Amino acid sequence: MIAFTEIADRVLVAVEPIVNVNVTLVVGDGQALLIDTLSHDGQARELLTAIRGVTGEPLAVVNTHHHYDHAFGNAVVADGTGGGQPPRDAPIFAHEEAAALLRDKGTVLQREWYEELLPQDLAFADALGQCVIRPPDQIVHGETGLDVGGRQVVLRHLGRGHTIGDLVVEVPDADLVVAGDLVEEGAPPGFGDSFPISWPDTLAALLSRLGPQTRVVPGHGAVVGPDFVRAQHGELSQLSWLIREAHGDGGDPLKVAQKTTLTRFGERGLQEARHAVIRGYEELEQPSNPR
Ligand SMILES: [Zn+2]
Repeated sequence: MIAFTEIADRVLVAVEPIVNVNVTLVVGDGQALLIDTLSHDGQARELLTAIRGVTGEPLAVVNTHHHYDHAFGNAVVADGTGGGQPPRDAPIFAHEEAAALLRDKGTVLQREWYEELLPQDLAFADALGQCVIRPPDQIVHGETGLDVGGRQVVLRHLGRGHTIGDLVVEVPDADLVVAGDLVEEGAPPGFGDSFPISWPDTLAALLSRLGPQTRVVPGHGAVVGPDFVRAQHGELSQLSWLIREAHGDGGDPLKVAQKTTLTRFGERGLQEARHAVIRGYEELEQPSNPR
């Protein structure tokens, strides 16, 4: 069951129950903006029903990044919901790198994620494996301003972090930022496609844009404030230093991972930390790391 809760003036968040993805809806006069579209067609249909319980306005869509749980519902959500005559598909915005990944490598990634998820949840993996990938058609480079039914919203790329192409969505009239998986609450950050050496700088850039009361919607978990983001920046900075020091000695990734604070999340934290070390070494060896 996907249901929206209003967390600021006409800004609503719904939590997907399997991996706690946050989906955000910004409602203006004559248009609404949906941020992230969940993992597969079935979830996206449920999401669309929930949206229509809130607003009948035409939609625009943003993917905060290319990961399946944020973008694989695109086709169902966008289909004919953009308004106009005849019904137009909703535009889908993403950073250029996220859009390129979904366009050029979407099926390869779909298969990788299908195979990764299959042992954990067969039904979920099957649904993900069968959905049609719709790449974003509106490309964001550094920043793009949107008028969402009279509300000024900014889509901004602050640098590499959780992935090569993360966007944050600023809603200044609600003093709120949707951060995607650049910020993660209640679980370790995901490092599988990350740039752990750059991530702290990207979070510092985000922090510099937050006011004392700004609310931050993370990719997963509870809505947080600047203090939480500052603490996560500190943890990621420590991790980055640890990786840089270990890289000089050729440290075994698992042994380095065991020294990180992410071990407080148990086995999952340890595995994410190991990914972080591996990705960090790659980043140090190839500063202009390709996708
Ligand atoms: Zn992600």
